[in-house]
Amino acid sequence: MSTVYLNGEYLPAEEAKISVLDRGFVFADGVYEVIPAYGSHLLRLEQHLQRLDDSLDGIRLANPFDHMQWAAILEEIVKLNSENNEDLSIYLQVTRGAAKRDHAFPDEIKQTVFVMATPMSAVPAEQLENGVAAITHDDIRWRYCHINSIALLPNTLMRQVAREAGAAEAILYRDDQVTEGAASNVFIVLNGRILTPRKDECLLPGITRDLILEIAADSGLDCQEADISMQMLREAEEIWVTSSTKEILPVTKLDGQAVGNGKPGPVWRDMLDRYQQYKDKLRTGAAQ
Ligand code: PLP
Repeated sequence: MSTVYLNGEYLPAEEAKISVLDRGFVFADGVYEVIPAYGSHLLRLEQHLQRLDDSLDGIRLANPFDHMQWAAILEEIVKLNSENNEDLSIYLQVTRGAAKRDHAFPDEIKQTVFVMATPMSAVPAEQLENGVAAITHDDIRWRYCHINSIALLPNTLMRQVAREAGAAEAILYRDDQVTEGAASNVFIVLNGRILTPRKDECLLPGITRDLILEIAADSGLDCQEADISMQMLREAEEIWVTSSTKEILPVTKLDGQAVGNGKPGPVWRDMLDRYQQYKDKLRTGAAQ
């Protein structure tokens, strides 16, 4: 049984309870993070906590903890859930707490803080062998997609459309520009160059995305942030979607058409190898 953290206590998931008046439940008034832990080492913890700070600032909610306090809680949750030595995905959520239902913020705020760990299942070998299908979808979300808001209804709706079309992800566009995936960032390889949309309010600044840019720069690969039009997406030799849990997934079919030659591409394979090497270093504590 998994052990979770809720408002100062470590307890079995089944025993963790929050108020029905919690503003996270009533208004989706909160933010979250998902942090992978490989061999009990949290990947890019500082960057995740910085993004949490940015998300909390974005919804004008004070962070109840500093980074040291967060690190202590997260490391304890990893320890308490590591009996099988599995890689873990750590989910944390901070909401504006319980209060009488009123849209404006309550005068007194006691944040609800929740943390849980889930075993991270390896990406299926079949998906790495053949890649996955994706669809394109108009980005129907609000204008602050850089905030890691728990209000994920548009994302869930678009992901469901993808699933019903037999696809693993929906790649989103706004005014003909690619933004990101329903739960991932997007990279393309076009004319041999690796490209990903620039960071702005239209997309979540993915920690995996930034890590890939860093690995590419360290490896001397041609990888840049750029505007990506739908035409560029359709002409790409390779498309990847990236996230903490999916890592780097090759998209080999887009809206039913083959991407490139319809097989995962060589640039993706090279980048995945480098990403795996990074993870191996993290497991031994030689990277963060
Ligand atoms: N964009 C969205 C909308 C996401 O939900 C996610 C992750 O779930 C990402 C991008 C990737 O972010 P990260 O690499 O930090 O997991």
